[in-house]
Amino acid sequence: MSTKIRELLADPLDLPLKEPFKIATGIKDAAWNVLIRVVLEDGTVGFGEVSPSPYTTGDTQGTVLAVMEQLRPSVVGQDIRHWRRLLNDTRKAVRNQVGAHSGLEIAVLDAFGKARGISLAEMFGGVRQSVETDMTLSLGTPEKAGEDARKFVGEGFRKLKIKVGLDVETDADRIVAVRDNAPDVEISLDANQGFSPKDAVELVARANARGARIGMFEQPVRRDDFEGMRFVREHCPLPVAADETVFTPEDALRVAREGAADMINIKVAKCGILGALEIISIARVANIGLMIGGMMESKIGLAASVHLACGFGCFHHHDLDTVYLLKPFECEGGFRQEGPHFSVEGITAGTGVKYDPT
Ligand SMILES: [Mg+2]
Repeated sequence: MSTKIRELLADPLDLPLKEPFKIATGIKDAAWNVLIRVVLEDGTVGFGEVSPSPYTTGDTQGTVLAVMEQLRPSVVGQDIRHWRRLLNDTRKAVRNQVGAHSGLEIAVLDAFGKARGISLAEMFGGVRQSVETDMTLSLGTPEKAGEDARKFVGEGFRKLKIKVGLDVETDADRIVAVRDNAPDVEISLDANQGFSPKDAVELVARANARGARIGMFEQPVRRDDFEGMRFVREHCPLPVAADETVFTPEDALRVAREGAADMINIKVAKCGILGALEIISIARVANIGLMIGGMMESKIGLAASVHLACGFGCFHHHDLDTVYLLKPFECEGGFRQEGPHFSVEGITAGTGVKYDPT
């Protein structure tokens, strides 16, 4: 069996959403993703995916395709058994551009796992076989939030994440509508940097005064406002999570030093697999909690996050619902979905993803 890389392929993967998804930074009705394939000489294919988020990561489908073109000479002809050396080199060949690196890292590790007969979840430690994801409610009216909450609870979800960040009064009404329609769910909030520190605190106070019992608040303020993050943390009776604030291990270290968050949201699309491994270590030694999220990946890319989460078993909150926001998408392997439960049981090689784009 030859473990040399014969080909690196990158192709547009355009995926429509079930319904437009609105957050504080914009609205999206399709995911303009990139499918990445690392093909070994024996025909083994490792699959990766990038879901570019121009506002958040600065990547677009076009930049990811261009970077993959640039990386091809550093990848083709390399031996997959030396995956870390290969990925250290590709990180050096093109700085930043983490979206492209994340997709390549997923594909390389999938190929490695398939070539060596080990699942990624086992490679990462095999702590758990399954995780439970939340479901995210897009920005909208209080009525729509209440309706969505009822629908998702009917589908088995026990954790709902409400997008907020435009207007304190409407957001408080939306949170209360969710609580009224789903009295037993765990509620978390995500403002995607939309609030001032004072407005963020005000929203939590108003919603909790009306019985909302919010469990966690993600990225209430601007990504670079470390002091604002700490202000919200100190004035709200709940954990504050840093999402857009943390892209790199250096960002995670700064959050730890400045006490800017109780939790860090790791997304493979923000930091790649290599970055995720380092951020996990930093957070654990700094006694900071961990959650894991996604951009708008299909099962192809999301599988890596599910395997990472199962393998480490260290995440307190799983926000991996992107497969439910996209229109149903045919792809073999990856993980098994049963409502909010994602299981890697039975996956014996890589992420197990098999997909034919033709
Ligand atoms: Mg977020």
